[in-house]
Amino acid sequence: MGPTQYNTIISGGRLIDPATGVDNVADIGILDGRIAAIEPSLDKQSATEVIDADNKIVTAGMIDTHGHIYQHVTGKFGLDPDMVGVRSGVTTIIDQGGPSCMTLGGFRHYLAERSHTRLYCFISAYLVGGLEGHMYPDLYGPTGVNPEHTIRVARDNLDLVRGIKAHAEIGGQSRWGLEVIKVGKRIASELDLPLYIHLGQLWPSLEEGPVPDPDELIRELVPIMSEGDMLAHPFTRHPGGFVSETGEVHPIVFEAIDRGVKVDVGHGSHFSFEVAKKVLDAGIKPFTLGADMHGYNVTAPPAGMDQGVRESNPFFGIAPFNLTVAMSELLTLGMSLHEVIATVTQNPATVLGKSAELGSLAVGRSADISMLDIQHGRFKLFDNSGVEVVTDKLIRPVMALKDGVAFKADSPLIPDPVLA
Ligand SMILES: [Zn+2]
Repeated sequence: MGPTQYNTIISGGRLIDPATGVDNVADIGILDGRIAAIEPSLDKQSATEVIDADNKIVTAGMIDTHGHIYQHVTGKFGLDPDMVGVRSGVTTIIDQGGPSCMTLGGFRHYLAERSHTRLYCFISAYLVGGLEGHMYPDLYGPTGVNPEHTIRVARDNLDLVRGIKAHAEIGGQSRWGLEVIKVGKRIASELDLPLYIHLGQLWPSLEEGPVPDPDELIRELVPIMSEGDMLAHPFTRHPGGFVSETGEVHPIVFEAIDRGVKVDVGHGSHFSFEVAKKVLDAGIKPFTLGADMHGYNVTAPPAGMDQGVRESNPFFGIAPFNLTVAMSELLTLGMSLHEVIATVTQNPATVLGKSAELGSLAVGRSADISMLDIQHGRFKLFDNSGVEVVTDKLIRPVMALKDGVAFKADSPLIPDPVLA
């Protein structure tokens, strides 16, 4: 028992770890970037630094399944990974469709190797990736994909590439049907990785020709998907999601879930309280959360950027949010705290195929840890359809430790609480 048995002790937090069923107050001892001990009480003299977690919730490092952090390369779309990540209480981000087979090298070199936040991606099914938030639909048709190239690059980079991203939405369908989705599925199948599908309108429909039926889209899409694939934006306020034009959850969504297709919230500017309530009331719970923050839905317009141009982006939104706001919303909608924490720890670790390394608090693992505070009071939550909801509990990030290194939650992207 030397005086520096641990570099850090996180003291007295309420550990919640859905992966192991743990929910109790305990100390965590960290040595050389790993969790070295979890005990009811550790000798505080045995650590160089003690972090007081009294009245705080301590979880495995939170994983955001839907980030857009390919900064600079994706234009205004990509945010600073550490502002979305460790400085917002999040230790791991999956970039959804930013990098492509042509730009993955930059993602590794400039982002993954340099950020403090652990980064993965679902590689874009399209050659150009998520440039400027997919603002230019002409880049995303069947001539803009090359499955062989994408498979080759993904296979060579499986340490970063953990899935494939594509979009099933009526603007694309009006142009090309589901051709590109089928190519995306082929890529995913050959790599044995999940296919992640964006639902909800993204591109404007073609003015000529019949406007596709959003309900037909999901009926055609679901049979293409298989166990482990992911449907995102179930709570979208845009047409083409889980809820039909006549206001019911599509029966085929239940079939998909029965087959093992997973649901990711992909909050973003899509989130609608009314749709969320309808989907949850129908018995569908999201498997993972995914904040879906990007440069068009959370930041002030860049200097010189015309507001009209900004608003023309299909993702444009105004309601302030981040991962912990999205967690607070799921709580308010009736999911339990354990269920909500599972959507950002245990479950996304499964999606990444990294359950043995991430998503749980266990001795021997990397010390990826999030500390959260639940504030009590009366707070307003907003969605982008103009609905306001009042909650009595607001989850706020306090800090994150990534490989044992502590970061305060001081990101300017963390929205201030709005009192009701
Ligand atoms: Zn997104």
